[in-house]
Amino acid sequence: MTEPRPKIPIAPVLSRASFGAPSGNAGSAGRRPASVLDAGQVRKVTSGRVAIALALREMGARAGDEVLVPAYHSPSMVPPVLWCGAEPVFYRIAADASVDLADVAARIGPATRAIMVTHYFGFPQDMAAIRALCDAHGLQLLEDCAHAFFGEHGGRPLGSWGDYAIASSMKFFPTYEGGCLVSSRCRLDGVVLHSAGPGFEAKAALAALENSFAYGRLPLLRAALGPLLRLKDLAWRALKSRRTTATSGAAAAPAPDASALAPASSDSGFDFEPRWVDKRSSWFSRAVMRLASTRRIAGLRRRHYLALEQAARALPGCRPLFASLPEGVVPWQCPLVFDDPETVFERLHAAGVPLVRFAQLRWPGVDATTCANSAMLARRVLALPCHQALREDELAWMAAQLRAALQPKAEAA
Ligand SMILES: *Cc1c(COP(=O)(O)O)cnc(C)c1O
Repeated sequence: MTEPRPKIPIAPVLSRASFGAPSGNAGSAGRRPASVLDAGQVRKVTSGRVAIALALREMGARAGDEVLVPAYHSPSMVPPVLWCGAEPVFYRIAADASVDLADVAARIGPATRAIMVTHYFGFPQDMAAIRALCDAHGLQLLEDCAHAFFGEHGGRPLGSWGDYAIASSMKFFPTYEGGCLVSSRCRLDGVVLHSAGPGFEAKAALAALENSFAYGRLPLLRAALGPLLRLKDLAWRALKSRRTTATSGAAAAPAPDASALAPASSDSGFDFEPRWVDKRSSWFSRAVMRLASTRRIAGLRRRHYLALEQAARALPGCRPLFASLPEGVVPWQCPLVFDDPETVFERLHAAGVPLVRFAQLRWPGVDATTCANSAMLARRVLALPCHQALREDELAWMAAQLRAALQPKAEAA
C-alpha cells in the first residue's frame, strides 16, 4: 500500500474510550445497548465474511441455489456465497438505502434459498416486512449486522430477526480481527472452531497495540512495552534475513509472510480465505470484547455522529444520508451525501481525513443498470468515522476539514 496513513484512525484503536464508566454526557443514559450478542447463540470468528460463509453453510446453501444479495454491498459479501456453490442474485435498494421489497419479491424464484439484508451504517431496515416476505416464500434470512453490532429494532436486538446474523466486531471494537455468527432460531452446535495458533494470537494482540500506539494512544503502556516491541522487531528482521539468505539454496523455505499469520480481512482487503472458516477469534479480541463498556462505546458513537451531522447540516453541497439518528441506533460511520463528491473526496483525502466510500467497489457486473440507487450512493456518499476512540480535537479537526473542502473561498477569506 502506498496510501499515506490517515491523520486520525479510521476504525477504533485501543484507548480508554472503549472501557470504563460511560463518560458524563455521552448520551447513553443508564441502559446497556442491545447487541447482536443478545440476539441468540454466538460463535466468534475472525471476520464478518467468514461468518457469512458459515451462516450459508448452516442454511444448507449449495450448488443450484440462489442467494439474494443487495446491489449496494461490500465485495467481501459475495465470495462466501460462491464458496458454498450458490449463485448471488443482486436486488435493488431505494435512494435512502432501504431494501426495495418489490424488487426482492420479483427476483424470488424456485432456486432462491436465502436473502442477505444489510443494516447500512447501523440504521435498521424494515425487518417486520422483510421477515414476512421471507416467511411467505420459505426463504432463510441472513441479517448482515456488519454495520450494526449494537442496536434494536421493533423492541428486539438487531440480529434476532434473521435465521442467522453476522457481525464484524472489528468495526466496533478496538481489535485487529473479529466477526460473529449469531442465530436466535437455530443451534450452532455444528459450528466447531479451532485456535489459529500462537503466531496468530501474538499477531492479533501486537497489531492492536501497535495500531493504537501509532495514533498516540496509551503512551504509558507504549513506554512500558517499548523494549519488548523493539526486541520483537529485531527478532522478526533477523528471521526474515535468515530466510532470504536461505532462498539461494535449492530446498529453501519460502520467505516468512507476515500476512499469512492473519486473515486478509484484517488488512482492509476483500478477499475470502476458506482456511479461516473454522478458526476462532483471538484470545485478545475476545478479551477486549468482554472487558469493553458497551454503554460507553454506544454513547460516544452517537455523540460523535451527531457532532459531525450538525457540522454537515450547516454546509452547502452536502446532507446526511439519514434524516435523523433514532433512539437505539449505534452508528458505524457518519454517511454524508455530496453534490460534488469527487472534488470533496480529493480535498479531504489530501488533508488526511479517513473516508469510507461504501460499495464503491462492487461485484463485477453490478452497475447502474442493476441498481441506479446503489451506483448513486456508492458515488455520492462519503462516510466519516464516528467511532468511540476519536478525541474531541480530532472531531473538531474533521469538521474543519469538511468546512474547508466545501467552502474553500470562505475559509481562505
Ligand atoms: C465489512 C462488511 C462485511 C464483512 O465484514 P468483514 O469483517 O470485513 O469480513 C459484510 N457486510 C458488510 C455490509 C460490510 O461492510
